[in-house]
Amino acid sequence: MPTIQTEETTGGKKLPSHAKVVVVGGGVVGCSILFHLAKFGWKDAVLLERDELTSGSSWHAAGGIHTISSDPNISRLQSYTINLYKEIEELSGQSVGLHQTGGFYAASTKEWYDYLKGERSKARYMGLDQEFISPKELAERHPLIDPDHYHAVLWDAQDGHLDPSGTTYAFAKAAKAHGAQYFTHCGATGMTQRPDGSWDIVTPKGTINAEHVVNCGGLWAREVGHMAGIQLPVQPMEHHYLITERMDEVVNFGQQLPHGIDFEANVYCRQEGQGMLLGTYEAQATPWKVGGTPWDFGHELLPPDLDRVADRLETAFERLPAMANAGIKDVINGPFTFGPDGNPLIGPVPGMKNYWVAVGVMAGFCQGGGVGLTLAEWMIDGEPSIDVWAMDVARFGEFATPDWGTIKSSENYERRFVMTFPNETLPKGRKQKTTALYDRMIGKGAVMDQGFGLEHVLWFADGPEDAHEVPSFERNRSHDYVAREIKAVREAVGGIEIANFAKHEFKGEGVREYLNHILAGFVPKPGRLALTPMLTPKGKLYGDLTVACLAEDHFMLFGSGAMQEAHRRWFEKDLPAGISYTNVSDDWHGIALSGPKSRELLARITRDDVSAEAFKFRDLRQTFVGGVPVIINRISFSGELGYEIYCKPQYLMRLADAIEEAGADLVYRWYGARALLSMRLEKGWGVWTMEYRPDFDAVESGMDVFINWKKDFVGKEATLKARDEGVSQKLVTMTIDVEGIDVAHDEAILKDGEPVGYVSSGGYAHHVGKSMAMGYVAAEFADPGTKLQVEILGNFYDALVLAGPAYDANGANMRS
Ligand SMILES: Cc1cc2nc3c(=O)[nH]c(=O)nc-3n(C[C@H](O)[C@H](O)[C@H](O)COP(=O)(O)OP(=O)(O)OC[C@H]3O[C@@H](n4cnc5c(N)ncnc54)[C@H](O)[C@@H]3O)c2cc1C
Repeated sequence: MPTIQTEETTGGKKLPSHAKVVVVGGGVVGCSILFHLAKFGWKDAVLLERDELTSGSSWHAAGGIHTISSDPNISRLQSYTINLYKEIEELSGQSVGLHQTGGFYAASTKEWYDYLKGERSKARYMGLDQEFISPKELAERHPLIDPDHYHAVLWDAQDGHLDPSGTTYAFAKAAKAHGAQYFTHCGATGMTQRPDGSWDIVTPKGTINAEHVVNCGGLWAREVGHMAGIQLPVQPMEHHYLITERMDEVVNFGQQLPHGIDFEANVYCRQEGQGMLLGTYEAQATPWKVGGTPWDFGHELLPPDLDRVADRLETAFERLPAMANAGIKDVINGPFTFGPDGNPLIGPVPGMKNYWVAVGVMAGFCQGGGVGLTLAEWMIDGEPSIDVWAMDVARFGEFATPDWGTIKSSENYERRFVMTFPNETLPKGRKQKTTALYDRMIGKGAVMDQGFGLEHVLWFADGPEDAHEVPSFERNRSHDYVAREIKAVREAVGGIEIANFAKHEFKGEGVREYLNHILAGFVPKPGRLALTPMLTPKGKLYGDLTVACLAEDHFMLFGSGAMQEAHRRWFEKDLPAGISYTNVSDDWHGIALSGPKSRELLARITRDDVSAEAFKFRDLRQTFVGGVPVIINRISFSGELGYEIYCKPQYLMRLADAIEEAGADLVYRWYGARALLSMRLEKGWGVWTMEYRPDFDAVESGMDVFINWKKDFVGKEATLKARDEGVSQKLVTMTIDVEGIDVAHDEAILKDGEPVGYVSSGGYAHHVGKSMAMGYVAAEFADPGTKLQVEILGNFYDALVLAGPAYDANGANMRS
């Protein structure tokens, strides 16, 4: 049974009237943030806890710790978290009850074995200590397991379990040792922002003013958010685990049993005292307190309902047969908070000043240390030391309403141990945002996905009845359909919707100077476009943008749809007076035409002269196409002659009609994101969140070719240093000698059997007929012609570093 520790920390001490930062919430996450802030120098940090520390989900966690996560940087932070426990234990004098027993991930199907091979490959280049052991070896390390159920087992020596309450207190006491303060029975009951951006936080012990506030409200994250007027799409979920009575099999083993996860059986287990602890994520999630978490909920558990998990327990008892006969000592049903994709939501909230969150942390004992590290770096240094996009609160926007949050968080709970294949799209919370062409695309057999809440086409099947995907690690059924789309684009003309690109509008006097400052590349003259990286002060990539100059004081920036709120946050942070900025992504939908016949098609539906001489590569026009007002950018991401035609959403249907009518005899075909991603691969162009992300700088990624070195810009000093001193890793494009399967992302790249990098993205390049990948490798292996190997599902394939694009190397088609 979880224990409750209490401590009177106020001891009559008065709440200060001011602090640099106030952390709201004394669960494991808030305490870790307090610790890291104080450790890194912000000692004037105060944590407020409405009850005792741990009074949310932290006190009743199962305490399991492991490093595996779908995102490699989250895995890195989980590894950091586990390694931190000794430090806080020593500093605080408080035991965290760490049992680093090692942990196993057991695969009972071929698919789970393949999944684990992918994890092993990731671990290989991240330097994490994971190895495959046989089921027989597992039975030696864990005699309660029946090995006959398993194909293979991945072992991670870092895994184990700890005491959740002790760990939370260790963080808090270690924070105190570094100079921070925490106050219990001192909840935030309201907060208001002063004109200078600081926050007044009201508590029963007085009001405290702080430059920054961090919402670590855990089960009450939503309610703490409401105090500042924000809605967070997180949802507490009920969750069961059970603890057995003393078991002879456990005691007689004579040493601690390892932590373990059996994905297919959907259970996790570990030793608890002289018995076992076993938990499961049931197929039908039970969201808890959808309308809001009551303030009087304290150190409480929820009534157990074993019927909900009975089927899962049955499978578990087949795999751990001794447990079937064990007495059940306790059944814990407790709530903990999930985010829509299962990852935490952390960072500065876009549209707000000095307001930070670290919420939806559903594995606080695996991730809390890393979340604390990242948030403290972000607050103190202005940017985290590694890319934490997978946890950034800005990956959600207005579309992520509370209802949507509950639907997606429930889906995520249910899928916690369910395989998601690289080509699989998740079904819940769909059609949150659609364009006027949604039904038309579905009618044509579109298989859709959503990004930033908006539906977009992945590929077209032969009509709606045929529109389904078969989840697989191997080349899937979309392969031939995608080939057909690419053929149309490369040989005739194709069209793809571009509502999902982000669009940012800047107006006002001085906007050119401002853009010249924040963008590393050239800022074009009126009527022209330029590609540019945007860098952080430390020289890391923070954007890969197309700049369009509509007029001397009027610009549009086009970029990653997923990054639109993160970029909004970036632009609004230091926006000079007199310049207006608006995220206009939803105000501009559109269609990109690509292919050798795209000019002919466009000429048929506009009165403008769009000849090669009159409308050049990287020109832009504000004109009419198909009788509707548009902005046309003469660029393409397919590598063909192409035009991005943007219109207001209400004109999209008319524009699409015009294109379809005029394109009929030109063999016009709609195409989807899969085709586009394949075509850009054979051009060697990276994609934001894959190749381009703040883990890399402009020199490493090759984006330095777009830099205007003659001006000053954010990140220049660091980029000059990288250029002059050289970098240790470089982005490369490779062909891979493999049949029937392609990379997805995050596979290890090796040289003579030693990991030298990782795959950022890849797939099949249909036009050139090759399996291809992009990835970062140690600089000495980045030269064209270098022979490397890429690991795909445990097999190693030869790969060759290319000198340039595999298709249209000099860009003649695009510029034609
Ligand atoms: C049954 C179960 C098993 C679990 N097993 C594991 C596991 O094995 N491994 C793992 O890593 N994780 C596990 N978890 C998840 C883990 O418990 C959570 O990820 C973690 O506790 C989240 O911590 P937190 O600090 O974000 O939130 P919480 O623990 O909910 O803490 C929030 C704190 O904020 C305080 N607060 C709220 N509002 C205010 C306010 N207005 N003013 C001041 N204070 C406020 C609350 O009182 C509370 O103390 C489990 C959870 C459950 C329920």
